[in-house]
Amino acid sequence: MSLTLHGIPVSKGIAIGKVRIIDRDPIEINEYFLPKQNLDEEVARFQSAVDLARQQLEKVRDNIPKDASADVASFIESHLLMLEDSLLIQAPISMIIERQCNAEWALKLQCDSLVKVFEQMDDPYLSARRVDVENVVARVQRILRGYTDLPNDPFDENLTNAIVVSDDLTPADTIVMQHRGILAFATEFGGLTSHTAILARSLGIPAIVGLRRARPYIKATDILIVDGSTGVIIVNPTDRILHYYKLRQQEQKRHKAKLTKLREAPTKTLDDTQITLHINIEFPEDIAAVKRVGGDGIGLYRTEFLFMNRRSPPDEEEHFDAYARVISGLGTSSTVTIRTLDLGADKQIDGGRHEHFLTANPALGLRAIRLCLKDLTLFRPQLRAILRASALGNVHMMIPMVSGLQEFFQISNLIKETCKELTKKSIAFNPNMPLGVMIEVPAMAICTDLFTEYVDFFSIGTNDLIQYTLAIDRVDDAVNYLYDPLHPAVLRLIKMSIDSANKADKPISMCGEMASDSRYVRLLLGLGLRSFSVNPEAFLETKQIITNSDMRGLSRLANKVLQANNREDMENWLELVNAGLDE
Ligand code: PEP
Ligand code: MG
Repeated sequence: MSLTLHGIPVSKGIAIGKVRIIDRDPIEINEYFLPKQNLDEEVARFQSAVDLARQQLEKVRDNIPKDASADVASFIESHLLMLEDSLLIQAPISMIIERQCNAEWALKLQCDSLVKVFEQMDDPYLSARRVDVENVVARVQRILRGYTDLPNDPFDENLTNAIVVSDDLTPADTIVMQHRGILAFATEFGGLTSHTAILARSLGIPAIVGLRRARPYIKATDILIVDGSTGVIIVNPTDRILHYYKLRQQEQKRHKAKLTKLREAPTKTLDDTQITLHINIEFPEDIAAVKRVGGDGIGLYRTEFLFMNRRSPPDEEEHFDAYARVISGLGTSSTVTIRTLDLGADKQIDGGRHEHFLTANPALGLRAIRLCLKDLTLFRPQLRAILRASALGNVHMMIPMVSGLQEFFQISNLIKETCKELTKKSIAFNPNMPLGVMIEVPAMAICTDLFTEYVDFFSIGTNDLIQYTLAIDRVDDAVNYLYDPLHPAVLRLIKMSIDSANKADKPISMCGEMASDSRYVRLLLGLGLRSFSVNPEAFLETKQIITNSDMRGLSRLANKVLQANNREDMENWLELVNAGLDE
């Protein structure tokens, strides 16, 4: 039977394919009493589950891509060793016999007691090994529950042409799955501007989030249609529905092909106002997508993705190599805005699989520049690498999450120190490399004027600016309905920042997702913005809107949107701002 489910659309495109369900929820385990005559059979069941887990891990180890970091192999090896350990393998067997219980329960009890021991260890390395034990046990538990064919770990399998349905996915998972060839994904949790959603857009993977309790309705053998524009999932579509979506898929392809005609066109409005249109990237490999659409500048390079799916941070050389690849891929005269790392909240080293920095409010805690200033061993190699890369091309450095001038002075002192070190060692760098800050904390938006004297440029990060202004966790689908770029408070902060920067003649751009949303491009032009940085998928569409816009009159209409005192008026004025766009 065909079934339709609705979620939050986060990345456009239609995908049709087989489902692959990934369960990350802990499995509920109960105890069962077993008669004595069944115990041998239960022990044998446990042993064969362990054997199969071992075989699965060996297969994973043998299939690790050659270019994967060495940490991946040692991580798998350590799990294999645990499957030889008597504490994990023999102890549950004794328990099955002594307690006359099921294998799952025995394994759970043994795992709980090992976890307790690990937790009491002072050594942070050893206490973190707890997660490894839990990982290995989870694999055996899944096999005991009958999931014998699928390793249920996105690291482990080929996901070519699969549509992944999961409770949640981290940005790190998304990267791995893209390498494994997924068609689309749908999750039960997550928000529109979570980094997982941003990645999906940037990688061109159709995606839907916030599909609460979808998994019970989807079986491993189902065929799915994912419509990333409307947030609709159709489970086992009828032939007619399938036909309709295939037609729409072709239509979207034609639309994309039409847009490519704009590749070489200059980015200016009908009345000849020059607009800067740059692209956001996460990886050096994204340069291929940038070139495909004819982009020639990077307005935001999210360098924290260098830290994901690995256990130790990259060293200076790795940073430098990545930046050098971007610069040489794009051409030395193109702007490359390297944002210093923004780890914390939903982006953790290795995707948070092994180390959990759980604080009460991670988005308000040690994130981005705060983390960097606290842990200079993390920050210094990156600063040196960015400065060295500045000798190779037109590099700009951008700092995320700045909230006050003192913080900025701390950063600029650190940069000065690093410049001195490099000079001493005769290492080349650009002493005039532009240094900018992101406007993503409301305090920064309100005080933009205080910064104009010190910074070379600004970039508005609306993903966080909206999160912090409206007090809405951007990864929480439960409050997603409040996430509103048109909220008067957000628009006023944006306008305030643009006006302060323009008044001081300091470049200001926007690299948050609001800039990539076709509904807001003209509004932002009308508010005085002359520079955008968008995801590669949105680049040509944004260019089309810009080249079809006339600045005359836009500022008056944008101000009407800004001044509207009720939602209906605001939407009406916005419609006038966007008049003619759908034609
Ligand atoms: C933003 O906050 O708008 C932004 C561009 O940064 P990120 O999405 O990486 O937090
Ligand atoms: Mg941000």
